[in-house]
Amino acid sequence: MRSLYVKFAAVTIGIMLLSGVIAFFISNTYYQHSLKPQNDAKNTSIALEMASFIENNPDILINDYLTNMADVGYQLFLVDNDDNNRFFGAAFRENNLETAVIENVLGGEIYHGMLHFPQETFVTGFFANELKNSIGVPLTYQGENYALFIRPDIKLLFNEMHLLFGVLFALTIILSILFVLVGTNYLVKPISRLSHATKQLAKGDFHVDMLDTRRNDELGELSTSFSQMAKQIAENEQLRKEFVSNISHDIQSPLSNIKGYTNLLEEKEIAEKNKQQYISIIHEEIGRLSTMTEQLLLLASLEHEQHIVKKKWFNVSEQLKNLLKSYQWLIQEKEIMLSYSLPDLDIYADPSLLNTVWDNLLSNALKYNQLGGNIDIQLTYTDKKCSISFIDTGIGISEEEAKRIFDRFYRADVSRTRSVKGTGLGLSIVATIVELHDGIITARPVEASGTIFTVTLPLSNE
Ligand code: ATP
Ligand code: MG
Repeated sequence: MRSLYVKFAAVTIGIMLLSGVIAFFISNTYYQHSLKPQNDAKNTSIALEMASFIENNPDILINDYLTNMADVGYQLFLVDNDDNNRFFGAAFRENNLETAVIENVLGGEIYHGMLHFPQETFVTGFFANELKNSIGVPLTYQGENYALFIRPDIKLLFNEMHLLFGVLFALTIILSILFVLVGTNYLVKPISRLSHATKQLAKGDFHVDMLDTRRNDELGELSTSFSQMAKQIAENEQLRKEFVSNISHDIQSPLSNIKGYTNLLEEKEIAEKNKQQYISIIHEEIGRLSTMTEQLLLLASLEHEQHIVKKKWFNVSEQLKNLLKSYQWLIQEKEIMLSYSLPDLDIYADPSLLNTVWDNLLSNALKYNQLGGNIDIQLTYTDKKCSISFIDTGIGISEEEAKRIFDRFYRADVSRTRSVKGTGLGLSIVATIVELHDGIITARPVEASGTIFTVTLPLSNE
């Protein structure tokens, strides 16, 4: 992860340097095309003013006047026809003026050295302290022709400014590099944390370090999703462990019963009556094992093969009535009062899977009911969906149990349901099927005593 930090910082600093270079070239073009001619024109007019002042005041001492001008901030060079020359103010770094130029100016021309100063020197040409980089004007003083060359004394005029700009420039660069280094760390840190957390997760440690989920950006969002994912995986892992331990227990107990009773059957002196009893217990346990494996197979296929759902239009109320008929003998045996309201309704669903749903709910309502209790089945619908409720007056469930009732192998309060056999898989199958149909199932205790299970399904999936 360190390398991401280095890359990010390097790229940002690189971008800064590149923009600096590009900006330099652009400003240079601006200088060459616009500022340079302006600068030349300005200095030409100043030089012409000096010349005309001297010409209009023939009584002044030219040396004193030019010394004054030098003090104000100019470098000056005065030359006459006899090649007598004088310098005023700071010295030029190079006195590289050609004689032809001097002769031209003495002959009355204006010399635009600033405008024609070489292009290659970029913006820095502005600062070149050379005699060539000046403005030359002709003037007459006391009947004599002179050439006056002037140049603003940049050092004198801009020394402090120079320093100020230099410091400003250096500070800008140093500070931006510092900020880039710190800012990059701020950006990259959560990514390193995420990567660390991923490794933790891969090792099977689901309690990943606290990620920064308060950030209000994409990284915050990513951290939040990651934490949620880790939590989900931890939950799934817990469920898987519970599932394996439940399954082992539920297979182990009938097996040990079978083993125990077959041992008993091996004994020589055994009454015929006991023998029959043992055999029937063994049958019962084998039956339990076989139901359980069937249920587990169904659950597995429901979870892994979604295409197992084969939907078609069918009359759900008719299906429910048929189911009630097949349970008639059990209902009578338990002296249950059955009532229902099942108006005709067609729905688009898998009839065989839904039959499993109703079968489980009805068998539960019977199993966990008491002698002489009631069962009421209600079907209601709108133009979009329908609800089917199974209401019983049985042992009921607590709010707490209602939350876990759809978990695999979950069986509520063993002391109350000891007498009834079951694997605790029925309702998890029911819930899975309802989910595959984009429906909802709820279980809540009924006020007096008993439970109400409600399945809500869309009439079709259009
Ligand atoms: P089987 O897999 O044979 O159906 P089961 O009935 O024990 O076994 P589920 O149908 O999943 O398993 O039910 C889970 C638990 O929910 C039951 O053990 C029971 O405690 C509780 N329960 C289910 N239906 C009712 C009901 N109508 N009234 C009260 N408790 C119920
Ligand atoms: Mg059941």
